[in-house]
Amino acid sequence: MSSRKRIAVLGSTGSIGRSVLSVVESNPDVFEVVGLSALRNAELLAAQAKQFGVVKVAIGEEAAGSSSLGADLEIGVGEEALVELASDPDVDLVVNALVGTAGLPVTAASVGAGKRLAIANKESLVMAGELVTSLAGRTGSELIPVDSEHSSIFRCLRGTAHGEVTGVVLTASGGPLRDLPVGEVGSATVEAVLSHPTWDMGRKITVDSATLANKAMEVVEAMWLFDLPLELIDVVVHRESIVHSLVRLCDGSLLAHLGSPDMRVPIQYALFYPDAPGTSFNEFRPADMGTLNFGPVEAERYPCFGLILASAREGGTAPTIATTADEVAVGAFLEGRIRFGDIATVIARTLDAEGTGPAENLAAIFEAERSARTTAVEIVDDIVGRTGHGPAGAALTNNHSGV
Ligand code: MG
Repeated sequence: MSSRKRIAVLGSTGSIGRSVLSVVESNPDVFEVVGLSALRNAELLAAQAKQFGVVKVAIGEEAAGSSSLGADLEIGVGEEALVELASDPDVDLVVNALVGTAGLPVTAASVGAGKRLAIANKESLVMAGELVTSLAGRTGSELIPVDSEHSSIFRCLRGTAHGEVTGVVLTASGGPLRDLPVGEVGSATVEAVLSHPTWDMGRKITVDSATLANKAMEVVEAMWLFDLPLELIDVVVHRESIVHSLVRLCDGSLLAHLGSPDMRVPIQYALFYPDAPGTSFNEFRPADMGTLNFGPVEAERYPCFGLILASAREGGTAPTIATTADEVAVGAFLEGRIRFGDIATVIARTLDAEGTGPAENLAAIFEAERSARTTAVEIVDDIVGRTGHGPAGAALTNNHSGV
């Protein structure tokens, strides 16, 4: 007799996954969680399974202690288990909240199974947007954006007529380094980079917001989600993160979606879609808005932004190579092995070293990812080798790069 929407939350212990479960918790009559997965946080995964009465769980890494999860659970390990959850016949809505390139198999599996997919993993669209969207066209799978900018565009588009939309404008806060003198950006510390001015998010995406790699990936994501050519997608720096994005109309006017920067809003919208979202989190009053600022993206402050967009223009496996290199470089930066400015260097050198080809099937994309990862790791090792051991050593060398 249950008519609740049955959802699987993949990546449930991360920042997005926990927000998804908080929305579910507030709406127990609407949603039933039937599957959960985590990369390695077995303890929190077990607690979530218990709280939401979930039996099917998957954990990314065996070593993460799946044995501690409890005897009353059906536990799968590794990518195969994630794919199984993502295509489970008992699931109405899959939430892909995995971090990074690991999200692509989940996206492919749920789209292949014709599921409605709430997609927070932008890498899967950056790497395989053409394959994923054409597969969705064949299976009837619906992609519902969770990214705040894309959620706003998605909502604005529901009120437009065919032929009315001539482009979109994504807003970017500019990230935590937006006011640093450009010459100091390359040596920004991990602590400075993780202090995002407006959004509270996971570590990888916060670094990607500081480089604007995240925004470049969002441009590619928008291209596939909304079937728009790259040149019709603009980015504007908007410091307050109140206007989440804009839709450009054929008469020269713009539609905007405004609100507090709170990820629960787009998450809740994706979970409830196509119905009206349930809860008001923080009623937004225009008088509280103050001044809204808009400005252009400074190319020299954000070299990763240009590199990733160039890879998207090249197409094929180039965006996969750029995204994978970014993931490796961000990991090395967070570990204190390379400087912030080296992230762009790793992406540029990996793109130079790797040959790009057509992204004709998932196997070609996964092979490009594997190869790019090996190359990017070598490039990181090379940078660490030249500069001593990480940023402390780098600071002692006569390093002219990164300005
Ligand atoms: Mg976003």
